[in-house]
Amino acid sequence: DLGSSLRGTLDKLRGKSRISEEDVDEIVKEIQRSLLQADVDVSLVMDLSDSIKERSLEEEPPGGTSARDHVLRIVYEELVGLVGDSTEIPLESQTIMLAGLQGSGKTTTAAKMAWWFSKKGLRPAVIQTDTFRPGAYDQAKQMADRAEVEFYGDPDADDPVQIARDGLEATADADVHIVDTAGRHALEDDLISEIEEIESVVEPDRSLLVLDAAIGQGAKDQARQFDDSIGIDGVAITKLDGTAKGGGALTAVDETGSTIAFLGSGETVQDIERFEPDSFISRLLGMGDLKQLTERVERAMEETQEGEDDWDPEDLMKGEFTLKDMRKQMKAMDNMGPLDQVMDMIPGMGGGLMDQLPDDAMDVTQDRMRNFEVIMDSMTEAELENPRSIGASQVRRIAKGSGQSEDAIRELLDQHKMMAQTMKQFQGMGDGDMQRMMKK
Ligand code: GDP
Ligand code: MG
Repeated sequence: DLGSSLRGTLDKLRGKSRISEEDVDEIVKEIQRSLLQADVDVSLVMDLSDSIKERSLEEEPPGGTSARDHVLRIVYEELVGLVGDSTEIPLESQTIMLAGLQGSGKTTTAAKMAWWFSKKGLRPAVIQTDTFRPGAYDQAKQMADRAEVEFYGDPDADDPVQIARDGLEATADADVHIVDTAGRHALEDDLISEIEEIESVVEPDRSLLVLDAAIGQGAKDQARQFDDSIGIDGVAITKLDGTAKGGGALTAVDETGSTIAFLGSGETVQDIERFEPDSFISRLLGMGDLKQLTERVERAMEETQEGEDDWDPEDLMKGEFTLKDMRKQMKAMDNMGPLDQVMDMIPGMGGGLMDQLPDDAMDVTQDRMRNFEVIMDSMTEAELENPRSIGASQVRRIAKGSGQSEDAIRELLDQHKMMAQTMKQFQGMGDGDMQRMMKK
């Protein structure tokens, strides 16, 4: 799948500290493929590619950041900039109007949102103004019943504007009024004038455009026209439980200068959640843990910036593993979390590789770590660089100096040996071996 080929491309940057133009081109190509596949508008994808390229080559990676993490962070930041934050939905009295083409999911979303507001302790009401589609009243009423919220509609009336007016009056006691409207197969003039009239009667605090996740390049015209007629404040994406990733919503957001408010992922009233940029982006790219990785790298960078040696998990992959490395690694683990989790986040390193190591190879508990620190403070530079040189007399000296038992010193040396062997195992693996292991 696309996420894994993006991962593969990023993997090639492993161990590189500088990034070449070819590297960036290759990564950008993968990202383009993912985004186009997810229905993101072509011109948006091109703009994004340009920014990513420019920034990756021009910006200096912060100290200790590998080329791969550097690019990942830029990709992530650019996408966050594009999708924006979640539409602000205050938990207070308000009127929300839903617009969108027929079948986009308005009626379902109206009931879902009402359910969502009721769970937040508000008293919502759904007002159904669709007189166009046969059965619209019954469907809306049934869904509102399922959401256990107040409902207004009139199966016999034929003037949507009058229904809206009556509905607001009839449900005056409710806090949140959600006005559902009719759609058409296409944007026709009578739909537009009808929705404009409803809007002028309802005077909504916000109007949301409801978009099927599968909408592709068609999102642009729709968004433009609804925005021109009633003003779009936010987007609700529906049917994310299918294979579509909802990239068309980015077009709508871009076109209307709005943001995404809600995500729908099923046919029942509970299948709704507020939009979260991070998980949405990860989904678009098919990479599950982008944000977590960026955050951890950032945190680790901050913590190592006070004159400490820079540390990158990938450094473990090269050279001799000394006690100094072990100490750095323990510090970094303190900052980043357990090593096995850190390893899991490096593309190509996860997927159960850690399961194949001896159980306690990476297991250094907080207490043991603190003891190890104390012990290492009593060692000389030469001993830290070359632990194999430490004999019985040195062990005695270090034990005395650190106030620890000789057994504790030997335990540290054993732990180091085990880790060094593990690291050798990693280093010994060529790319091919690594891939074969991952496939198991
Ligand atoms: P409207 O014409 O815009 O009011 O759209 P509806 O709310 O009637 O939805 C059209 C169809 O899409 C219905 O069969 C819904 O059950 C279905 N639907 C709406 N939202 C979702 C969703 O998030 N997931 C799935 N699987 N189906 C949905
Ligand atoms: Mg409907």
